[in-house]
Amino acid sequence: MHCPFCRNPDTKVIDSRSTDDGAAIRRRRSCPECGKRFTTQENVLLMVAKRSGVTEPFSRDKIVAGVRRACQGRPVGEDALAKLGQRVEEALRATGAAEIPSHEVGLAILGPLGELDEVAYLRFASVYRGFESLEDFAREIEALRRAGSAEEPAPPPH
Ligand SMILES: [Zn+2]
Repeated sequence: MHCPFCRNPDTKVIDSRSTDDGAAIRRRRSCPECGKRFTTQENVLLMVAKRSGVTEPFSRDKIVAGVRRACQGRPVGEDALAKLGQRVEEALRATGAAEIPSHEVGLAILGPLGELDEVAYLRFASVYRGFESLEDFAREIEALRRAGSAEEPAPPPH
């Protein structure tokens, strides 16, 4: 890694420690050329496994771009989109897995998107889950209605 100040190609590690959650390592480095210090961080790359078998690094920007498309014309701001992207990434990282199947990424998006905007949720779900008929939509809308009335106590099981 080169020095971000003078571009010297050689730097020295003077201290390494884990972040509080243990998910990353921070290194304090110094440049023997200009003497400046800086910090780097090592993270495990979260990989997404596509159905084709190809894996690619998780991209929060990609998630947000996909959700933004589903939110076209809906009252959903950039702040809300950014927050959703963060929630999805945190949820996926919290699984502790280094590689996540792409359908699980989709599932992780559906939850927070349903809270954000029901129409965008249906659009996203229709593409993502491959809705083919009105019945698919009807079933999903029914599920949304049930989730919306969750405060009503369910009948006791027999
Ligand atoms: Zn330097």
